[in-house]
Amino acid sequence: MALRNIREMGDPILNKPCKEVKEITPRIKDLVEDMFETMYDAQGVGLAAPQVGILKRIAVVDVTGEDPLIFINPTILESDGEQEGSEGCLSIPGKAGIVKRPYHVKVSAYDINMNYFELEAEEFLARAICHEFDHLDGHLYVEKVIGELQDVTDEEEEAE
Ligand code: ZN
Repeated sequence: MALRNIREMGDPILNKPCKEVKEITPRIKDLVEDMFETMYDAQGVGLAAPQVGILKRIAVVDVTGEDPLIFINPTILESDGEQEGSEGCLSIPGKAGIVKRPYHVKVSAYDINMNYFELEAEEFLARAICHEFDHLDGHLYVEKVIGELQDVTDEEEEAE
């Protein structure tokens, strides 16, 4: 496993749509392992493949530090409700902003063995999932910030 370099806003790769994963190769398995390692090292709660320079539809999320989730070729099947809260991003260090997201989402995706699954999430997990899936379409949360982007210190940061 290895840490990967996290791309920062301004890098054009973060604005490109990602391609579907056709099959799980050893390279994809290495990528997913590296994404988790990179996310935990940066104290993030989520990371999408384009953030490490790979334009594939893969995201990892772990909002508790004990529930690693892998989403390959994910789709949001249903979303309802609303929540407003502060969001950060490992690709936009030192910043945070208020973003409106669905309160609840139902998503489908494939796991690391290319098995289909569905997952329902609410509150912070739903927010993290929406944030990561946006990355796969080339979108950053700053496009959705209500009001001004804020400066935050490392201790306050909860970045995706
Ligand atoms: Zn992000």
